[in-house]
Amino acid sequence: MSDTTEPAAAAKRLDAADELAPLRSRFVLDDVVYLDGNSLGALPAHVPDRVADVVRRQWGDLRIRSWDESGWWTAPERIGDRIAPLVGAAAGQIVVGDSTSVNVFKALVGAVRMAGDDRDELLVDATTFPTDGYIARSAARLTGRTLRPVSPAEVPAALSARTAAVLLNHVDYRTGRLHDLPALTAAAHAAGAVAVWDLCHSAGALPVGLDEHGVDLAVGCTYKYLNGGPGAPAYLYVRRSLQDRFDSPLPGWNSHAEPFGMRPDYEAAPGALRGRVGTPDILSMLALEAALDVWEGVSVAAVRAKSLALTDFFLECVTAYVPQGLVESLTPAAHEERGSQVALRCPAAGDVMERLIARGVVGDFRHPDVLRFGFTPLYVGFADVERAARVLGEVLAG
Ligand SMILES: *Cc1c(COP(=O)(O)O)cnc(C)c1O
Repeated sequence: MSDTTEPAAAAKRLDAADELAPLRSRFVLDDVVYLDGNSLGALPAHVPDRVADVVRRQWGDLRIRSWDESGWWTAPERIGDRIAPLVGAAAGQIVVGDSTSVNVFKALVGAVRMAGDDRDELLVDATTFPTDGYIARSAARLTGRTLRPVSPAEVPAALSARTAAVLLNHVDYRTGRLHDLPALTAAAHAAGAVAVWDLCHSAGALPVGLDEHGVDLAVGCTYKYLNGGPGAPAYLYVRRSLQDRFDSPLPGWNSHAEPFGMRPDYEAAPGALRGRVGTPDILSMLALEAALDVWEGVSVAAVRAKSLALTDFFLECVTAYVPQGLVESLTPAAHEERGSQVALRCPAAGDVMERLIARGVVGDFRHPDVLRFGFTPLYVGFADVERAARVLGEVLAG
């Protein structure tokens, strides 16, 4: 692509052939190129009216009756079942509620309790998003285990008969690297350890295959590629065959077998429900439920194919538009190692991102020198990609 008009022509062709292109109209978007859906997904167009109905009619008119009549009480497991097909899980294994941080805590302590007393070590992805590392450290202290941070590539060698559980990220939040979930899960199992995965940067962008690959526990947030809205509740997956052994460290009354029995003694509910804690945050939860409607008729395989085409095209356009040597991609070139974002290392990245945003290209900056661009296949097109790379070239040249 030596001729700079060529990427624009290629973008036109790719957009014309894109079967997912019509999905963009399901979202509220403007002239900005929005490449931050890996941090906060865009607003689906029908959500405001649905939220208004929840507030005005369900809360305003029906009041307490809505716990039953509007399905509020069962929302955590109902919405979990709607997320399930997006992450390759059969129904009855996911509950929605609390933040990702809180669910990491539940999953890790639950995993250590399943693993048994003779396993005294907890492995955590050393490159993880900080909250996972902080919570893992506290979970280790509380359960009397030693926390060992290791890079995902070192996990197979670090696993041993001492390992209780491993907490890994499916996609690295900084570099966009996709880790080998099937192989790392199998390695954990071969060592007799419990495999816990954080899906924050993969769910909604690529196939996960939780059931197929025998993942034990998983958590993820819903405000990134699932477009659930700021602070939308996260989710917890507990594999069906482990549910009876899942002993939650936060056994709130919502996870009781008989929550309205108001009994002094605790008895965990059967199934995924034991991952619940307290009263669900209904307003955000039902905004999320409405947001999930955009997935109707959408295949995750098609989303993955478009995501790879978008990130490939972005890397090509960056090569065409950005003078050589000014940026370096931290995102693997190999498809099987790439999530749905591209991270470019560049000097003064914070300043560069501010100038990009001022020119209508929204990505984000990660300390100290990373420009992060997230590609949400449901609403990002190839012309957006071409424009983003072109503006980046202009900003860096100027
Ligand atoms: C986004 C993200 C989180 C967010 O956690 P919250 O509790 O929702 O703030 C956690 N872990 C990872 C890997 C993330 O990417």
